[in-house]
Amino acid sequence: MTLLARALREAVRARALELGFDAVALGPAGPPEHGAAFERWLDAGYAGTMRYLERGRAERLDPERLLPGCRSVVAVAQSHNHPDADPSWRPVARYARGRDYHDLMRPRLRELAGFIREAAGPPVRCRAAVDTSAVLERDLAARAGLGWIGKNTNLLSPALGSYVVLGVVLTTAALEPDARQPDRCGTCTACLDACPTGAFAGPYVLDARRCLSYLTIEHRGEVPAELCGSVADWVFGCDVCQEVCPWNRKAAPAREPALAPRGAFPPLEALLDVDRDAFRARFGASALTRAKRAGLLRNAALALGNRGDARAVPALRRALDDADPVVRGAAGWALERLAARPAAAP
Ligand code: SF4
Ligand code: SF4
Repeated sequence: MTLLARALREAVRARALELGFDAVALGPAGPPEHGAAFERWLDAGYAGTMRYLERGRAERLDPERLLPGCRSVVAVAQSHNHPDADPSWRPVARYARGRDYHDLMRPRLRELAGFIREAAGPPVRCRAAVDTSAVLERDLAARAGLGWIGKNTNLLSPALGSYVVLGVVLTTAALEPDARQPDRCGTCTACLDACPTGAFAGPYVLDARRCLSYLTIEHRGEVPAELCGSVADWVFGCDVCQEVCPWNRKAAPAREPALAPRGAFPPLEALLDVDRDAFRARFGASALTRAKRAGLLRNAALALGNRGDARAVPALRRALDDADPVVRGAAGWALERLAARPAAAP
C-alpha cells in the first residue's frame, strides 16, 4: 500500500468514527459474493410480499448499476445496543426503540461521502445507501471486514455483536481494503434452535414468511392463524435469534443516545385506542411507522391474546369496532384465545 493510499484509508476511517459511527471497514465493490444465494432465496419465495426486493434484483446484484465506475465500499455500523431500556420496551425490537435510524444515518453517510469526494479529489463520485437503496449492504459490509454473516443471517461484529444497523458509501475512489473477518459461529446453533416460528430453512437461510420481523412489520393483512400464537408478545420485530447469540453477551453498549428509547412504551391496551393522528404524533419519528397503524394495532391485539390477561378484554372488545378489518380480525382472535383459557383458580 502506498503512503498516500494508507493516509486516505485512515482519513476515511477517522472521519467515519468522528461522525458517530461505531465501526467502519473498507472493501472492494463488484458483485456481492452471495448474489447467487440471494437469487435462490428470492426464487424460493422466501421474501414473501417484499416485492421491492424482486424489483431491485438487478441493482442488488451489481453496485455498478447504482454508481457506474464504483470501485470501493465504505461500510459503517451503528450500534443500538442499549441494554438498560425500560422493560415496557420489551415487545419492540431494539433497533426501533429510539429515533428512526435512517434519519440519523442518512445525513452522516452523506457527509462521509462528501469527505471522501474531497479527500480523494475529482473526478471521484460517491453514493450513500442505508437500507432503502437497492444494495446488499450486509454482504458488502462482510466483504469489507465489518464482521461476518452469522447463521441467523445478521451481520456480527466481534466487538459490537449484531445489535447494529448498517450503511454503506459506494465510491469510484480506489481505497485500500481492510482484512476480512472469519465466520466465528463455529458449531453453535443457538439462534436456529431458539426461533419461535422455525423460520430458518437452514443455517444462513431465513424464510421471511415465517419470521416475526417480517410478519409484524412488513406483512400487511392478517398474520397466518398457525403463527398468531408464536407472535408471543412482540409488537414490532423480534430479537430472539439475537438475544441468544453468545456474541451479543459481550457486545459493547451503544454510545449513540438518539437510538435509545425515551420514557416508556405505551401499555398495549392503550395502543389499541390510538387513531391515525395519535399514531403519527407518537411514532412519527421512529421506525415503528413502517408497520403502519393497522399493523401495530394488529400486533398489539395478538400480543394481548397471547399474554393471557383477562384485563385486556375491554380494550379488545373496543377494537372489534376498529375501522380496519385487520385490527378487528386480530382482536377477535385474541378474545377467542382469552376465552379458551382455563379460568384461574380461586
Ligand atoms: S427474528 Fe425471531 S422469528 Fe425471525 S428468525 Fe429471528 S427468532 Fe425467528
Ligand atoms: S447464535 Fe450462534 S450460530 Fe447463531 S449467529 Fe450467534 S454465534 Fe452464530
